[in-house]
Amino acid sequence: MKRPTILVLGAGYGGLATVVNLQKNIGIDVADITLINQNDYHYESTWLHEASAGTLRPDQVRYDIADVIKADKVKFVKASVEGIDIAGKQVSTNNGVFSYDYLVIGLGFEGETFGIPGLDKYALSIANVKAARQIREHIEYQFATWSMEDVKDDSRLTIVVGGAGFTGIEFLGELGNRVPELCKEFDVPQEKVRVLCVEAAPMVLPGFDPELVEYAVGHLQAKGIEFSIGTPVVEATPEGVKIKKGEDVFEFIKAGTVVWAAGVRGNRLIEQTGIENMRARVKVEKDMRAPGHNDVFIVGDCALMINEEVNRPYPPTAQIAMQQGVTVAKNLISLIKGEETEEFVPDLKGSVCSLGEHDAIGVVFGKKITGAKASFMKKVIDNRSLFMIGGPSLVVKKGKFNVL
Ligand code: FAD
Ligand code: NAD
Repeated sequence: MKRPTILVLGAGYGGLATVVNLQKNIGIDVADITLINQNDYHYESTWLHEASAGTLRPDQVRYDIADVIKADKVKFVKASVEGIDIAGKQVSTNNGVFSYDYLVIGLGFEGETFGIPGLDKYALSIANVKAARQIREHIEYQFATWSMEDVKDDSRLTIVVGGAGFTGIEFLGELGNRVPELCKEFDVPQEKVRVLCVEAAPMVLPGFDPELVEYAVGHLQAKGIEFSIGTPVVEATPEGVKIKKGEDVFEFIKAGTVVWAAGVRGNRLIEQTGIENMRARVKVEKDMRAPGHNDVFIVGDCALMINEEVNRPYPPTAQIAMQQGVTVAKNLISLIKGEETEEFVPDLKGSVCSLGEHDAIGVVFGKKITGAKASFMKKVIDNRSLFMIGGPSLVVKKGKFNVL
């Protein structure tokens, strides 16, 4: 009998967790497994705020896919997926067309701009490692240009961050440390630099513990970061952003850098598949399959699952994406063996939001933590994700050990 072909799209947390758990638990003769990713490396999306601010170099946040897959069990193809034909069971890429018996879609997230004019064109987004490098270099370019100008345009040194969710706050935490370094490097007086976070909701980190939020805001303000709360960004232009401060009250903020960190959606390719979705996220069945498509699994940020305790979707996180990968691998093996699939049950351990290299806030196993303890925990979490995909050797190679 012909071995079934399993095609996994995307080598993010969800896709890689699927593949490494398949290769661990399946014989070479059981299935043909192919992983397709647009780069021959995986990047840690959860570290992109550091690469964007320039506190980590891009090569520090990525590793070669070849380091974590077993070539005798998994074929890796470097290719950009261009279309997914669910009826024809085929995926087209810039490097050929691939047929499948089972498909796993793990193509990750994209920044959501909610149709706000100008954002797609004029704002930068912490979306992937190349975009992170662009943000870092854009900020450096603005500082370098300011220091060369005869007639100085101080707005070059204004950085607006749209959104005070986890991504926005973690990026601001890094900027708090990076700006003094940039000022030194580019001969810029620090008082000329303005970092402003604009948030639509009435609070920073909406929904998070208020005491921890107060700690975070205090820490960031002490580093010179300003907040404009309850003031949504309504437009971006080449010169900056327009924010809404009240009924028919608007303010324009001139800024050399606008970083949009105000929410995510699934990968746009999902919208062309014909599978029902909301902002490119598929409300999956309990075993992670797409409704009505028994041979298609969705993992990570392209999947949407409702937390029935609060009747809201689970937030899209790496923590959940990796756990889903484990279940998807198990379920693929069960299907091949003709056995029942199992339900995915998230095991949430909490969340930690970093505030720069040595500070953080978080709730872990129900306990609130701040400062050095939380920052240490964040590094443990970062190293754990390396461990789950590549074992101890990957932790030694790429881990974070700067705990003091
Ligand atoms: P991704 O990690 O986005 O990976 C998708 C993969 O698909 C990538 O390798 C990409 O190159 C590839 N791909 C995309 N399009 C194509 C294509 N057309 N063809 C081929 N390949 C393609 N979550 C946490 O749990 N904890 C955290 O601390 C945390 N911190 C975060 C910090 C930041 C700055 C950000 C932005 C997010 C953070 N998250 C965190 C959320 C987390 O990063 C995402 O939930 C997670 O990355 C989703 O994993 P994924 O596997 O779905 O996709
Ligand atoms: P988010 O949706 O969590 O936060 C976006 C923020 O932008 C919200 O506060 C929202 O009110 C604000 N916003 C929306 N429209 C706006 C507008 N027009 N103007 C100004 N502000 C606006 O998105 P995120 O922070 O990118 O996080 C995405 C996912 O990644 C979440 O699930 C998050 O939990 C996860 N994440 C986790 C961590 C961590 O665990 N350390 C870090 C980063 C991201």
